[in-house]
Amino acid sequence: MSELTHRTKTRPVNVGNLVIGGNDEVIIQSMTTTKTHDVEATVAEISRLEEAGCQVVRVACPDPRAADALAEIKSRINIPLVVDIHFDYRLALKAIEAGADKIRINPGNIGKRDKVELVVKAAKEKGIPIRIGVNAGSLERHLLEKYGYPTADAMVESALHHISILEELDFHDIIVSMKASNVDLAVEAYEKAAQAFDYPLHLGITESGTLFAGTIKSAAGLGTILSKGIGNTMRISLSADPVEEVKVARELLKTFGLASNAATLISCPTCGRIEIDLISIANEVEEYISHVKAPLKVAVLGCAVNGPGEAREADIGIAGAKGEGLLFRHGEIIRKVPEEIMVDELKKEVDKLAEEHYQK
Ligand code: SF4
Repeated sequence: MSELTHRTKTRPVNVGNLVIGGNDEVIIQSMTTTKTHDVEATVAEISRLEEAGCQVVRVACPDPRAADALAEIKSRINIPLVVDIHFDYRLALKAIEAGADKIRINPGNIGKRDKVELVVKAAKEKGIPIRIGVNAGSLERHLLEKYGYPTADAMVESALHHISILEELDFHDIIVSMKASNVDLAVEAYEKAAQAFDYPLHLGITESGTLFAGTIKSAAGLGTILSKGIGNTMRISLSADPVEEVKVARELLKTFGLASNAATLISCPTCGRIEIDLISIANEVEEYISHVKAPLKVAVLGCAVNGPGEAREADIGIAGAKGEGLLFRHGEIIRKVPEEIMVDELKKEVDKLAEEHYQK
């Protein structure tokens, strides 16, 4: 079982019952695609997201109708609720009053100082953080004039400007995102941000595309950032069902040893030595372990020749042979099982290991 890799040091910020930053966890977020005022549809989507492993959910709040729905949505879900406001301080106040666990608003966009103070005071009273969302596509005009086009330095300067407004009001429960749709720009902006301040960073590549292309683009960009120890929470943005965003996020975190509560499948690419229908078995086992909340590595390999040795890091695995399967742990064969029950035997062993992990 893998250990979590270390994150760059940041301040811890409470979001509902979770802590973002200050530790090695990377919290998975997603955003609803429903109209927020449609409570039934929004709650149903959030339930699906929760089920898939989403730990924090964000909803848009574009108008008073949406703000009016927040209290009921909040009362019917189990994960922290983040409310996304563009600049209307009245919607921010309503969201905080309704029980939002975090709001996303850029203080520099709210307008007059007294309005900013009202929002900050309300957030402080409820003990909820504010996420500053810097986006390469919507940088302040004076920064674009200064830098000529959106650069990482311009993005960091924008973040520091919004941060300073909050800090002047003695507000420090801040999380910052530095989103760009250009992967190189996003990587550079997050690296520079991690050096410029110690508030937790919310990772994202915006407008990354459809399920297949967007997954690859997000994995390339966010994977690079995560591998540098940067990032405390993450949302994968896809033009797809948001449940897919959560699945991609989980898989990415597993790749970097950053998921303490998810099992990983190791499966071979198959070749001419194959003895079993590996692709359907791998899909079945992947679906089965998607519900396991322990950091197990489970291997499914097409033959016994190279399989167990190649998957030495697996906590448990099967290698198909003619008419039978070899069950192995950490590269050592533990027993032979008939082919018809091989997958069931593997599932039982997975359950046993998961149970041992839960009891630790
Ligand atoms: Fe081929 Fe066996 Fe390796 Fe799978 S485990 S790729 S079937 S040699």
